[in-house]
Amino acid sequence: MNALKAVGDLLAPRECLVCGRRLGVKETHLCIWCAADLPLTRYWTRIHHPMADRFNEVIERHRLPAGKEPYAYAAALLFYRSGNPYRRIPQAVKYHYNRAAGRYFGRMLGDYLSGAAHFKDVDLVVPVPLHWTRLFARGYNQAEVLARAIAQRLGVPCRDLLRRTRRTRTQTRLSVEEKARNVSGAFRLRRRTSARHILLVDDTFTTGATLYGCFAALRAALGEEVRLSVCTLASVTEL
Ligand SMILES: [Zn+2]
Repeated sequence: MNALKAVGDLLAPRECLVCGRRLGVKETHLCIWCAADLPLTRYWTRIHHPMADRFNEVIERHRLPAGKEPYAYAAALLFYRSGNPYRRIPQAVKYHYNRAAGRYFGRMLGDYLSGAAHFKDVDLVVPVPLHWTRLFARGYNQAEVLARAIAQRLGVPCRDLLRRTRRTRTQTRLSVEEKARNVSGAFRLRRRTSARHILLVDDTFTTGATLYGCFAALRAALGEEVRLSVCTLASVTEL
């Protein structure tokens, strides 16, 4: 395998996703220096942290008719900071067709989650869906690439439980409220499930509006009994 990689490296040298340094045979996606410095959130070790707080604020603000909503668990593998070269990891997975990196970092997140007590009983992993027109244009759903790798590590199934019924506007210039309105009602359940703890997966957590759109659709369709948690490859939140 290494010999094969070495030959491959001669033909098309592999580079570190973060610093661009040429990778050695034993390095995968990152050079040893960038791998040693990964900005891990370690959110999976705690129930309360800035990402979970922010997501639970969104839930609270929209208060579902069901009434009492338990504090939702959340986790991300890496911090996403503008200007920080590590942002190239989620960008590679989302925009640069790097599905292998998606699988690699998805497995890494899955391993961390499998060691966390509050994610132990997750029995289904569900990716945030892309609208079919976007899926057609990109060729793959980056959230699904991550979700499948996470599910594999957790030893549970991964299913496309949700469908994006309409294409939402580009979110970058919208306020949190506008984003939530933009995605509310954009997701529908496409099949039933008997899962008790569902883990929703997306590539990056910013305001939580998209994940909330999925959360609300699942809550409305599946009722109060199901626990809904979220995780992403990267999060813009701080320590
Ligand atoms: Zn590097």
